[in-house]
Amino acid sequence: MTDEHQDGHEHPLEAEYLSPTDATVVEIAEDESGEGSIRVDLIVPCPTCSEPVRAIAQVEAAVDADIDLPIEDVEDLYD
Ligand SMILES: [Zn+2]
Repeated sequence: MTDEHQDGHEHPLEAEYLSPTDATVVEIAEDESGEGSIRVDLIVPCPTCSEPVRAIAQVEAAVDADIDLPIEDVEDLYD
């Protein structure tokens, strides 16, 4: 709200300290640059200060995933 532009977080994100279970997808949107690309925004805890950090990712490929959806219910299918 204070700044129009988005400043980077002061600490770099290091993949080895991040896990998918810590990440929350908060937005999936068409990238503002156009060309039909998709942007995925994640909130992850900063490994350094534990503050929430919004990580903006670009979808580079969409391929078939050999998994049943919703992922949470996969185990229930075999009951
Ligand atoms: Zn930090």
